[in-house]
Amino acid sequence: MSEELILQIQKKAGLTEVVSKYILLNNSRKVLKGRCPFHKDDTTSLMIMPESNIFKCFGCGAEGGPVDFVARIESVSREEVAGRMAKELGFTLNKFAQ
Ligand SMILES: [Zn+2]
Repeated sequence: MSEELILQIQKKAGLTEVVSKYILLNNSRKVLKGRCPFHKDDTTSLMIMPESNIFKCFGCGAEGGPVDFVARIESVSREEVAGRMAKELGFTLNKFAQ
């Protein structure tokens, strides 16, 4: 799978929805917060910004989009995650093959 395709999937996947499957998020207007799953977080250091579809942790510095989040939390490759999301999002992979 090409990096270009991963980026397209990354743009299309809804970060809030993806992250909500793994951690509890508190809604606070435009930014959602949750306990960061990537370090020992006693507060809610993880920010989810739905408008830009990115997450950022102010505790450990973890950041990225939906694909990055899942790849990191499940310790799998970005390609594997993007492949799964592509199916869920109805991407036609053949179109981008080669
Ligand atoms: Zn963190």
